Amino acid sequence: MKIIGIARETLEFILKVSESSAPQEFAGLLRAEKGIIKDVVILPGTESSDRNAVIKLFMMPNISSVGSVHSHPVPNLKPSKADLRLFRKTGTHHIIVGAPYDENSWQCYDSDGQVQVLPVLEIELNENEEILT
Ligand code: ZN
Repeated sequence: MKIIGIARETLEFILKVSESSAPQEFAGLLRAEKGIIKDVVILPGTESSDRNAVIKLFMMPNISSVGSVHSHPVPNLKPSKADLRLFRKTGTHHIIVGAPYDENSWQCYDSDGQVQVLPVLEIELNENEEILT
């Protein structure tokens, strides 16, 4: 799937959850619809420490994801070696969020850990749009 961006509401949710999880890390998988990242599945089994979130891949729900998201409680957005292993397994778009959790304190990487642009899209998330009447 070609990813054209992330919904602003989804990004704001990620920033909020990251901030409220601090000093623990938060990790999740990103899901997209029609090329727009709209959904975050929070991963169970995330072992939090003040340095590294170790995501237990065997606990990963069987869902299709376009990438991952996790927080760094320190203001350092660089992916660690463990992060790169996770990136390669979970998709093409990976967001790292850091303190102070504002609209500039995140970065998107590709599966090799290279910075990539992820546009923030002003779209409305309507939970009912999939319901056929
Ligand atoms: Zn990390």
